[in-house]
Amino acid sequence: MTQRIPLTDEERAVYEWQIWVDDFREAGQESLKGASVLVSRVGGLGSVVAYELAAAGVGKLVLAHAGNVKPSDLNRQLLMTHDWLGKPRVESAERRLRDLNPRLAIVAVGENVSEANADRLVAQVDLVVDCAPLFEERFAMNRAAVAQGKPIIECAMYDLEANIMSVIPGETPCLACLTPEQPPAWKREFPVFGAVSGTVGCLAAMEAIKLLAGFGEPLTGKLLTFDLRTMRFATRRIRRNRQCAVCGDG
Ligand SMILES: [Zn+2]
Repeated sequence: MTQRIPLTDEERAVYEWQIWVDDFREAGQESLKGASVLVSRVGGLGSVVAYELAAAGVGKLVLAHAGNVKPSDLNRQLLMTHDWLGKPRVESAERRLRDLNPRLAIVAVGENVSEANADRLVAQVDLVVDCAPLFEERFAMNRAAVAQGKPIIECAMYDLEANIMSVIPGETPCLACLTPEQPPAWKREFPVFGAVSGTVGCLAAMEAIKLLAGFGEPLTGKLLTFDLRTMRFATRRIRRNRQCAVCGDG
């Protein structure tokens, strides 16, 4: 689905160990090089998604996150550092990602996703990873991704529990099929360890890599839920809602 771009010798050396993956190979790496991904918020979850995608050699990342680094970000937002307290989060993220991968193209947007900017942000990329905690942002992103036919990976967590699924618009259930309205008790601030958001972030990054390079079995039509307090993982099938306001037949 992405445009493949031939590798340089330097890139071949950097990505050698993942190019050894049998169903990925150099063709997969060329697909990642030609790919672009929007990460909505680079907090506990999105920091890890962006870091893994940068390390894996995705060609371009668009990062959207408003606000400045706060002390309470530092237990989990791994692209934020003490020396950047009080300064913009996207600048800290961009700086850290460039240290890791100077070949990466980065578009850093100091805004959270909203109905006003979702279409413009999604239009710049091949795939979206939704790492936003608020349902208004998540719904705006879901709507824009479905409208533009772009795959979107949906992640959520609370305490030591989390879930993740991948959406192929028109084929698999979207966020609104599962959650048509914001759950009544949802809040922006919630209990979380960095090891929980980081786990979801790694899973989301691997989903993105598989979808971009076209290998493996992504979590499409399936919801993975897990509880790190008990280490129970479960995958269940989910269905599209034909009456869904976003992706339904209407
Ligand atoms: Zn839907």
